[in-house]
Amino acid sequence: MLALIKKHRNSTAEQQQARVISLFSLVGMSITLLMGIVSLFGDNTILTIVLFIASITYLLAFFSVKRFDISISATLVIYSLYLLMFYLVFSGGVSLTGPLWIFIVAPVSVYVLGLRHGLINLSLFLCIICIIIFLPQQWVEHAQYSNEFSLRLIISFLTMSFLSALYEYSRMQAYISALELSRQYQELAMRDPLTKLANRRNAAAILEQEKSRLQRNNEPLSVLLCDLDHFKLVNDKYGHNGGDMVLTELSALFKEQVRQQDCVARWGGEEFLIILPQTSSEQASVIAEKIRSSVEQYTINFVKHQIRVTISIGISQLAEDQTIDELINNADKCLYQAKTLGRNRVHPT
Ligand code: GH3
Ligand code: MG
Ligand code: MG
Repeated sequence: MLALIKKHRNSTAEQQQARVISLFSLVGMSITLLMGIVSLFGDNTILTIVLFIASITYLLAFFSVKRFDISISATLVIYSLYLLMFYLVFSGGVSLTGPLWIFIVAPVSVYVLGLRHGLINLSLFLCIICIIIFLPQQWVEHAQYSNEFSLRLIISFLTMSFLSALYEYSRMQAYISALELSRQYQELAMRDPLTKLANRRNAAAILEQEKSRLQRNNEPLSVLLCDLDHFKLVNDKYGHNGGDMVLTELSALFKEQVRQQDCVARWGGEEFLIILPQTSSEQASVIAEKIRSSVEQYTINFVKHQIRVTISIGISQLAEDQTIDELINNADKCLYQAKTLGRNRVHPT
């Protein structure tokens, strides 16, 4: 179950990330295309070519989201953005406004790459930006920025990175707690709060699942319907808390008596359903007798009292073409027989 929730969690997060990458690719493609067209009328041919290449790269990233692994499109989006920014800072873009664009790198990096990888990549990005800005002109000729401008650019980029990381962190925390809440609700919806056993709804689902699995392999499936004898008297004598204690202790006892692949469920008030996969009714009779006898010998200590109870058990094996309802009704009839024959007994099909 936990594996299922984890898988669901990963797939939901991935779907969300895929949506963001698609959206970012579309926006990136449109902006760079627009700027490329505007740049056509200027005199910077290299800038025009770079912008068109970036636009095509975002278009590719957009189509790769659906076709390939999401990490491929993420890599494409992030590193093409980085390269474009390096070029804009290096060349200065239009009238030295190129560096203004680097701020979008911070939120996009942490969102697309996640907090840890995003921050690592941002640090590397900033290092390269610093190298470009402070590269001596005599080595390579590039756009010249004043020291004040460069310093403020770096500080404001650091601030933006910090805020983006903080936002991503709180977003992740909120997401994790929402998932944890939903896991708890799912657990509550499937478990009986008193005994912590599977509840009726859960047991019915397990039965349907086991039915199709076992019938496919031509293997038997049996159930035990167990009902406490004269439980009303236990409640009358020891109070509702005493009765609850009996139900809880017997639940643990039932679980001890069955195999790991079996399922013990609380079917109703003082009725328990034990699902036994790969078990014929003859084998189920042996298990049922073992359970009945262990309950008979078991003593429940409640306050100063020692409570002894017995149970009656109806057994039913799933026949071909039988529905789960029919299987349970059959077990119920057997249980009724066990009750009318004097209780504290097992009645087979
Ligand atoms: P029988 O041998 O015929 O099964 O007799 P019984 O007294 O066990 O059967 P009956 O159906 O008359 O009574 C069941 C009792 O189980 C009545 C109800 O108060 C009690 N019961 C059901 N759920 C709970 C529960 O969660 N806690 C407690 N303490 N009692 C419960
Ligand atoms: Mg009952
Ligand atoms: Mg009863």
